[in-house]
Amino acid sequence: MPAHLPAHPPPALVPDRGPATGAGAYAIEAKDLAKTYGRGDKAVRALSGVSFDVPAGAVFGLLGPNGAGKSTTVKILTTLSRADAGTASVAGIDVDRQPALVRRAIGFVSQRAGFDPMGTGRENLILTGRIYGLSGTAARQRADELLARFGLAEAANRLVGKWSGGMQRKLDVAMGLIHRPRVLFLDEPTTGLDPEARADMWTEISRLTQDDGLTVLLTTHYLEEADRLADQLVIIDRGAIVAAGTPGELKSQLDGDTVQVELTDSDVDGRARSLLASIPGVREVSVEATTLRARVSNGAAALPALLSALDDAGVGLAAVTVARPSLDDVYLRYAGRSFQRADTDSQRPDQAKEVAR
Ligand code: ADP
Ligand code: MG
Repeated sequence: MPAHLPAHPPPALVPDRGPATGAGAYAIEAKDLAKTYGRGDKAVRALSGVSFDVPAGAVFGLLGPNGAGKSTTVKILTTLSRADAGTASVAGIDVDRQPALVRRAIGFVSQRAGFDPMGTGRENLILTGRIYGLSGTAARQRADELLARFGLAEAANRLVGKWSGGMQRKLDVAMGLIHRPRVLFLDEPTTGLDPEARADMWTEISRLTQDDGLTVLLTTHYLEEADRLADQLVIIDRGAIVAAGTPGELKSQLDGDTVQVELTDSDVDGRARSLLASIPGVREVSVEATTLRARVSNGAAALPALLSALDDAGVGLAAVTVARPSLDDVYLRYAGRSFQRADTDSQRPDQAKEVAR
């Protein structure tokens, strides 16, 4: 049996990797997915018509702040939850009609840890392999292969509960790969990791598509992560997709530079804002607390006029920065608020309602 086929499903029922034998050219197709949790006045609309296609062999990013609907989307695509409306297929298989086949074709690394802290790394992997129907020998062999591959061989016989967070997360990913899936879902693979472990995980994720030809869908609320890893991405906000493309395409939709001005005091009367907006060449001025942002064709050229206008009016400045457009600017344009703000707002229960409206 070729190495990339899952070990146990009847091959005739599982389309081979690639466009030729699958139902479509895409490894994942989601169309108009909608989902509401609960009923009546407790109802939370988590998804309202989400559509995207993921080409085989790509790293696809689902980027959005907390509560945007990322995990809900992943749960539907991995058959753990059912959409109220819409259709989806993974590896050419319909998630609603053939969920068991979808599960054999995919690996899923949940936002929460999936390992048993009281088992060793090796035990965790072997058990997962057995659950997927591998023989004892095949499971042990595959476990050792994955331990070596993720640099976990030395720690393999120690209890996972004592491992570092980065090592534990790598084990989660290795467990998701035990049955050689063709599509891997990673729900926030680096949340909670320190910068070094995060960079290490980024290297591993890039290798998955390069070396194994896997299709990877990853969710993240880190702009930098989507920018670094995703060949293509969608930005999801409040259950709807607000932008889609390659990171480069999304950023190039915004011409010119972003100027960000930190004021010493809040712009309560909107004076600093209107002052900025009145300078020729300054566009799309927005304000959030003490932060003013604007777009200009050439940051360096615009800066002197901008600074003297604020200075003349006696507006206190704490800092000024000029930068090329970032995914945050893309998000700001489409969602009307900065990414960081949306992320922190949704974590505060008192503001969650306001965000959901
Ligand atoms: P994300 O993964 O982007 O943070 P989720 O998909 O987990 O977002 O959640 C989307 C929205 O649905 C949020 O408002 C969240 O509170 C709500 N939600 C998620 N799961 C449930 C559930 N099981 N019951 C009720 N509400 C839920
Ligand atoms: Mg989530």
